[in-house]
Amino acid sequence: MKILSVNAGSSSLKFQLYNMPEEKVLISGLMERIGVGNSFYTIKVNGEKIKKEVELNNHEEAFETLVKELEENHVVEDLNEIEGIGHRVVQGGDYFDKSVVIDDDVLSKIEELSSLAPLHNPAAVIGIKAAKDVFPNAVQTVVFDTAFHQTMKKENYLYALPMKWYTDLKVRRYGAHGTSHKFVSERMNEILGRTDTKLITCHIGNGASISAVVNGKCINTSMGLTPNAGLIMGTRCGDIDASIIPYVMEKTGMTAKEIDTAINKESGLLAISQKSSDSRDIEDGIASGDENCILAQKMYVRRIVDYIAKYYVEMNGCDAIIFTAGIGENAIDTRRDVLNELGSLGIYLDEEANNVRGKERLISTKDSKVECWVIPTDEELMIARDTMELL
Ligand code: AMP
Repeated sequence: MKILSVNAGSSSLKFQLYNMPEEKVLISGLMERIGVGNSFYTIKVNGEKIKKEVELNNHEEAFETLVKELEENHVVEDLNEIEGIGHRVVQGGDYFDKSVVIDDDVLSKIEELSSLAPLHNPAAVIGIKAAKDVFPNAVQTVVFDTAFHQTMKKENYLYALPMKWYTDLKVRRYGAHGTSHKFVSERMNEILGRTDTKLITCHIGNGASISAVVNGKCINTSMGLTPNAGLIMGTRCGDIDASIIPYVMEKTGMTAKEIDTAINKESGLLAISQKSSDSRDIEDGIASGDENCILAQKMYVRRIVDYIAKYYVEMNGCDAIIFTAGIGENAIDTRRDVLNELGSLGIYLDEEANNVRGKERLISTKDSKVECWVIPTDEELMIARDTMELL
């Protein structure tokens, strides 16, 4: 059975076609600058990487281009071989606690939730509609970034704010990166050979979040109503004193939109390092003695450590801590700095084992009370698995 995983952004389309259940990738790629001019795409197929510049005016044209590549490269002989298409959707609100087959009701709920994810949900809707037109016979599903976190109890998802904000405006913690937290926690349970586990999953990329997962279910997560809560990120501030916002607005006359840009695009590692949002540049800065980069890394690590400690206590112990995503999988120094702060919990890093990028590996010592692992995430595969299950 062939299943296509799709992640549609407002001007991009990321895709991966799998042969299931073998989980073999047949073709993968990314189309960029859709509808904004100078569009192009890169595709990996038959061991080759192809880059082409083509006019892609909308997502429908992007899917049609994909079809052309599928046929030209003999990935499929007949489009009907693609039985399922799984779409990534960022915000499922409290309507969806798992992946679902798309019908009119599901589509209108995704549209309704656009106000909670204005950059992401409308793009996903465009992608779903375009895929429906181009692949009319495939079953379309959605995999929500928030669904895995729907198992949180009220005391963990509610904010101590006026209750009307929750009942009328849906203000609560939803979390994000759920597909990734689910993927790595399932893989961790597979490695441990049991499901009665307490895990702390650290998805640390440009966006970053940490979850506490007990017996395969999320009990708490660091992101909130939006993906700006919790950890310090590349350009997002994470947790702050909420009253900073009205204070700065009053003092500077900044609008809500300008504040939103400042806390999402001009904060985090970028703001403190005054150099870059990219952890590789921060590493270089630290190596050359840049004081701002050293400070940025200290603050960045502190916040991750705080969340790990918080969830360790909340779960009353922990079997394993997992690092994933761009920084979690690759930034050897960040993992070292985090784990070296956790000695008081009996957590010890194996420095030699930690010398790894992008590969699954145990990085704690034998006498560490908690196993620490690098597990590369694979959100596209998780989407394909969920879609296959729904089919
Ligand atoms: P993601 O959002 O998961 O793609 O992660 C992006 C982040 O991963 C960026 O901050 C990158 O600097 C970081 N990253 C990727 N590769 C490396 C690497 N080899 N060493 C350190 N950081 C890396």
